[in-house]
Amino acid sequence: MNEGTNAYALAAQLYPIYRSITGKGVRKTLSIIKEYIKSADFNIIEIPSGTQAFDWTIPEEWEIEDAFIENEQGDRILSFDDNCLHVVGYSMDVDRWVELEELKKYIYTQEDQPDVIPYVTSYYEKKIGFCMSQTQKESLLPGKYHMVIRSSRFPGALSCGEIIFPGEKQEEILISTYSCHPSMANDNCSGLALSAELAKYVQRLSRRRYTYRFVFVPETIGAIAYISHKHNLQHLQKYAIGGFTLSCVGDDGDYSIVHSPSETALSDRVLLHVLQYLGKPYKVYSFLQRGSDERQFDSPGVGLSLVGFCRTKYWEFPEYHTSLDTMDFVSAEGFQGAFNVLKECIDIFECNKIYKASTPCEPQLGRRGLYPNTSQKGVYGQVEALTNLLAYADGNRDLLEISEKIHQPMKALIPFVKKLVQEQLLEEV
Ligand code: ZN
Repeated sequence: MNEGTNAYALAAQLYPIYRSITGKGVRKTLSIIKEYIKSADFNIIEIPSGTQAFDWTIPEEWEIEDAFIENEQGDRILSFDDNCLHVVGYSMDVDRWVELEELKKYIYTQEDQPDVIPYVTSYYEKKIGFCMSQTQKESLLPGKYHMVIRSSRFPGALSCGEIIFPGEKQEEILISTYSCHPSMANDNCSGLALSAELAKYVQRLSRRRYTYRFVFVPETIGAIAYISHKHNLQHLQKYAIGGFTLSCVGDDGDYSIVHSPSETALSDRVLLHVLQYLGKPYKVYSFLQRGSDERQFDSPGVGLSLVGFCRTKYWEFPEYHTSLDTMDFVSAEGFQGAFNVLKECIDIFECNKIYKASTPCEPQLGRRGLYPNTSQKGVYGQVEALTNLLAYADGNRDLLEISEKIHQPMKALIPFVKKLVQEQLLEEV
């Protein structure tokens, strides 16, 4: 349970930090993650405002000092300090007295959930906006209101976090998560915390067959900026053999896979395999239901075949993008379950080699202590998996394909593979 507890604690530390796609909140978040992973190799890449990133331009930085709405009696009916979701992300600054009817033009609510404050942003269209519950909006009395947002846009940079753990191969597994949401626990803090925890797991591995790259980027614009940065696109296209985008991984709901466009890429197969043998319900979504940075990494010009992994998928829980997505909505157990799934995926990447049975016909397992010496129906037990493994090890199928064919979880086959390699009955191709 340590990983789940630790990830929950990290998410709780990140939760109060006000984040947007740029600014000090993202930088503070990245510096906490860097400290958590305890590696000098954690890079914070600053991409200047105005930089062209494929079809996009890196926007100006945005900072907010304060925001509130006051009534004529001087009572604050809403304050950024009480809940940072009260201000539309990237809102323009304002300091103006207005009548109720005009104020309402600047107020966003979630009408189908009247008691929540919605999370609203307007990065590219310059808007002034406040968010409140529909109930509060309806309770506002006629009169004058003082609306104040002290924010600024200025040339700065967009910050991306990256850490690479080199392996024996240059081929790499890419794990991406986003870093741009303000105080919401499952949709955002959970992905950051779990990714950091998973990076620590990869860091601890005594041997790494593959190289692992973890990236922490503002959603959409950050992923696009990161892919377009320097030679990243060419490098990733050459070496990335798969990976995952992580989002909403701290709640207790069913696990979810969001397939890559092909649905049959290595990461699709690995994650689906783990979920199939978990003994717990899970949901399968196609690329039509994509929503996070798999949209960029799997776009035709990039084509990395990353797979989305969530517990309850974004959009599918009522707390999503509202003031209800608090640390009470996620749990150490939720994080632990998601960690276990991803840890097993990494273990599979590491073990998924191609083997060939080394002797024509079946080998004589009995004299090696691998088969019961008396042959009688019904006493096969586990040897069936072992003999099936040998029977399908033709030098073409990878271990994952064999485990699917013989209906065995891959983790159950690993000890057999070790034994058979030791006995020189199986050789790596
Ligand atoms: Zn979101």
